[in-house]
Amino acid sequence: MSHLEDDLTQLLMHKGASLVGFADLSMLPPEPRMHMDCAVWIAVALDPRVVDDIAEGPTKFYEIEYLEKNELLKVLCRDAVKILRGWGFEAIARAATGEDIDWIDLQTPLPHKTVATRAGMGWIGKCGLLVNKEYGSAIRMAVVLTDATLEGEEVPIGASYCGDCMACVQHCPANAPTGEDWIKGLEREEYYDAFACHEHILQVTKEKGIRSKVCGICIAVCPYTKKYVKKALGPQ
Ligand code: SF4
Ligand code: SF4
Repeated sequence: MSHLEDDLTQLLMHKGASLVGFADLSMLPPEPRMHMDCAVWIAVALDPRVVDDIAEGPTKFYEIEYLEKNELLKVLCRDAVKILRGWGFEAIARAATGEDIDWIDLQTPLPHKTVATRAGMGWIGKCGLLVNKEYGSAIRMAVVLTDATLEGEEVPIGASYCGDCMACVQHCPANAPTGEDWIKGLEREEYYDAFACHEHILQVTKEKGIRSKVCGICIAVCPYTKKYVKKALGPQ
């Protein structure tokens, strides 16, 4: 990691980021990456106490946490853009997922989790969420696209580390995960039914009076998330 990546990481961690990664996107089609070759991937961890409470479905506290972390990501993205432009590079912030989603096909032009895998910060779990070894899926994330040449320390990840685990498959009330392991290039429908997931989310949030489109079960039941929660909260 050169001093650029190092300085940016330290500044963002100081302001509240939990993880910072750097991805080379030059092999992807130019439109979705806005003709920028690299990206800064920024993640903030969800409060483990809130995550510990959503194994049965979303709560109002989870919605508050979700929205607060999205706001923090906006600030961190703004800071990253400012820093990169101050260094003479072009930089464009991409908000947290959910804010630039196409609600017809439930896709974003460049998913943050794709950037995360290119930055070596995790893999796409059977439930379609990014899974990070340290935080599981208990993170919110955002991306800053840039023309700066940035290189992280992590090697890009192109295949799942879920192994034999089927926790999210067994607990999903919508049967959205098919049980198939993600591998780079695999079509989303092969491992996860985004429409079934979305239908369930619309129904459960309506019932509970929650305005954001959240569920959280697959976040909470993932063993990687559980390890993070247990470590953060200690023996209970
Ligand atoms: S968010 Fe809920 S409905 Fe969607 S895959 Fe996860 S557990 Fe299933
Ligand atoms: S719960 Fe298990 S199968 Fe699902 S994403 Fe986490 S590790 Fe993968």
